[in-house]
Amino acid sequence: MENKRRLFLKGACATAVGAVGASKLMAAQLDTKITDAAVEINYALIHDETKCIGCEACSDACRETNKVPEGVSRLDIVRTGPFGEYPEQYFHFSRKSCQQCDGTPCVNVCPTGAAYKDPKTGIVSVNSWKCVGCLYCIAACPYQIRFINPITKAADKCDFCKETRLKEGKSPACVSACPTKALIFGNLKDPGSEIVKVLKTTPNYRSKTELGTRPKVFRIAAKDGEIKL
Ligand code: SF4
Ligand code: SF4
Ligand code: SF4
Repeated sequence: MENKRRLFLKGACATAVGAVGASKLMAAQLDTKITDAAVEINYALIHDETKCIGCEACSDACRETNKVPEGVSRLDIVRTGPFGEYPEQYFHFSRKSCQQCDGTPCVNVCPTGAAYKDPKTGIVSVNSWKCVGCLYCIAACPYQIRFINPITKAADKCDFCKETRLKEGKSPACVSACPTKALIFGNLKDPGSEIVKVLKTTPNYRSKTELGTRPKVFRIAAKDGEIKL
């Protein structure tokens, strides 16, 4: 039944592509119907790069919890370096995952509504049965973190463990697995939350804000000179 629905949507989508033109659909429009101002809870994440040791416990936990197949990934830790002179060399680690944008190019180009922002939590998610694998969202994401899941054949990415952990009242798997507490997860609408307190008191930056995506993965920079207020 699910496959039939997806095949129908796929046919409809192919017609739409012909009519509209791929280049037009790939142009990311940044005005979403649901913005974070309207959501009930507004989840966000901090990656404190000063505490990250690159152990990848977060990405391993993510893969296990969300049954992410080999060859694709919802979360990667990108290592740069070494910096400095031997024997004082060191590396920097940054997180590559969905930025949970407020302005969502991926949602805006999706022809079937498979990519959507959850009005309750503000989490950008994928409704896999609606996905026809057209790749528009993958092309539109400026962070290049979406992929087609080889098992479900649908677009996939980090959803802050919405289905696997949050609905059981648990933190995302990556946050729980981190041995150095480099990840802080919470609700931006709760002024008493740890995430709000840290964001108010610690210089931080976000990636590619110039594109208007208003990402909700904040970073505390490990490198001098990378702090953007
Ligand atoms: S990072 Fe990419 S997939 Fe995630 S919300 Fe932003 S545009 Fe969409
Ligand atoms: S929040 Fe969940 S889905 Fe996202 S990277 Fe962490 S473990 Fe993976
Ligand atoms: S588990 Fe924590 S310390 Fe290890 S790579 Fe992930 S964020 Fe960094």
